[in-house]
Amino acid sequence: MPATSRIPLDDLRADCSRCFGLCCVVLPFTRSSDFALTKAAGQPCPNLAADHRCGIHARLKDKGFTGCTVYECLGAGQKLSQHTFGGRDWRAHPELRPLMTEVYPRMRHLHELLWHLHHAAALPGAAPVRGRIERMLTELDDLTRQDAGTLLQADLPALHAAAADLLRTAGRLERRRHNPKPRDHQRADLTGRDLRGADLKAADLRGALLIGADLTRADLRHADLLGADLRATVLDGADLSSALFLTQPQLNAARGDTATRIPTDLTRPSHWTP
Ligand code: SF4
Repeated sequence: MPATSRIPLDDLRADCSRCFGLCCVVLPFTRSSDFALTKAAGQPCPNLAADHRCGIHARLKDKGFTGCTVYECLGAGQKLSQHTFGGRDWRAHPELRPLMTEVYPRMRHLHELLWHLHHAAALPGAAPVRGRIERMLTELDDLTRQDAGTLLQADLPALHAAAADLLRTAGRLERRRHNPKPRDHQRADLTGRDLRGADLKAADLRGALLIGADLTRADLRHADLLGADLRATVLDGADLSSALFLTQPQLNAARGDTATRIPTDLTRPSHWTP
């Protein structure tokens, strides 16, 4: 799988030790159940310590910052810190902060597309479009290594549309290998639904709202979960071991237990119950 070996997965996971706490600076918050304060984009969070680490990391939930426990930059933070801005941090170079604030969401977007394309390239069913996926991976990976000005000028909506088309096709081809008549819940509002033990094998759940839904012991193998909203979704004992296009922030937002089966390249959230 040449495409999957070209971009190490670790480059698409947050490495806070190589980042200048960018997500804690560039992202805006609104005071809510997820954030205990309101801050504007580009304004450093008052909890951010001088070493660019969170000063309340071990007490985020107790302090009302649940939203921070869910977020994951997918490697965009360290790419910007070390590559785009060449190790120049926003404290020593405050003049760079507005540019960092502008570029960060674009890098995060590109890294999310890279994560999904990386996995799409590895799907056996995606063979008919693998060449296109690999070319797109190369194009986007090269773009993330350009300077800030080039990143700002890139036509992100067009790139997103092209990548989304490939992911949709790869997902459909792969799902058909496992279930000729999979359930179609694309963009369905399944908020709060009782789906305990549901057979959702190879289902299309792209963009579905599963907020607070109970998917205890559900079969989600090969289901396409791209963009599905899994906030407070109960995944106890569910099988997501081969779910398609699942990300760490989605898992972080859900609830699960030790019986929940997850893809090997994702991490079981520490807040899940034993
Ligand atoms: S509370 Fe901590 S993790 Fe959340 S934005 Fe502030 S410094 Fe970052």
